[in-house]
Amino acid sequence: MKEVVAGVDIGGTNTKIGFVDAQGAILAEGGLPTADYELAEHFVTALDSKIREMMTGHKDLKIIGIGIGAPNANFNKGTIELATNLNWKGIVPLVEMTERQTGLKARITNDANAAALGEMIFGAAKGVKDFIILTLGTGLGSGIVIDGEVVCGHTGFAGELGHMIMVEGGRECGCGRRGCLETYASATGLVRTVLELLSDSREESVLRDMKSSEITSRMVSEAAAAGDDIAVEALDRTAHMIALGIANSVIFSSPEKIFLFGGLAQAGAAIIEPVRKYADELVQPIFRGTFTVMPSGLPEARAAILGASALIWKDAN
Ligand SMILES: [Zn+2]
Repeated sequence: MKEVVAGVDIGGTNTKIGFVDAQGAILAEGGLPTADYELAEHFVTALDSKIREMMTGHKDLKIIGIGIGAPNANFNKGTIELATNLNWKGIVPLVEMTERQTGLKARITNDANAAALGEMIFGAAKGVKDFIILTLGTGLGSGIVIDGEVVCGHTGFAGELGHMIMVEGGRECGCGRRGCLETYASATGLVRTVLELLSDSREESVLRDMKSSEITSRMVSEAAAAGDDIAVEALDRTAHMIALGIANSVIFSSPEKIFLFGGLAQAGAAIIEPVRKYADELVQPIFRGTFTVMPSGLPEARAAILGASALIWKDAN
């Protein structure tokens, strides 16, 4: 029998499931529509059925646990709390429900912490004890690892660098405050910067011909690569803000590596190079040259499932 972990990635619309072996190979994949389940109880029953169905084709596999990545997940308590993009309101004890339904060990954490664990067990952070991963998507998620452990804090919600206030009274944030890092340093933040630059100047730009609601971070990256000044400036300011977030974070945990992951990180050298340059300038001199900013070693499409499974694999050996 080959041991696998069921890695479960719960998204607002869909849930993806993968059977992951100890080396990070995904041996079977499946899914179910999260949004169809009004109640978490019904979702957990359906998840159990789906996992059983996936097992029928793989009699040679043995599931040793279920690792779950979900928005607003609390590792300490095994709950999903006040998730705005899920149907399930309030505090959902998903780990307890899953363990009762399946009879298997279950663990849950948020997406960015799952990415950190995935990086640690299967990615570019193998053997690295102190690192930070920044997931640059719609928002900015982060996982902070200190001495080999993901930081969750007293409440279970620690380590969300995306909500460090960088500009007091700045851009409105989804968390209800203003000026958080993620309102500048994310795919959405990049687009907001483009819109500000367009309205503050009369400079020509291919982005000026587009409807503001249609501009994406990818378009900005492409325009920057083609030499569009507005796009170049927006990418540069975004990199600067990411670097400022890094410079502040280095103060409290002195990471060896900082990984950039997600949509915006795909702009590759165009974002990584200026982030490196600015981080080096902005960091307290004693830390200069002590950390490396690099792209994540996880394949984007599989990172969430690998990361979720790492919750179980981390303690399995
Ligand atoms: Zn915020």
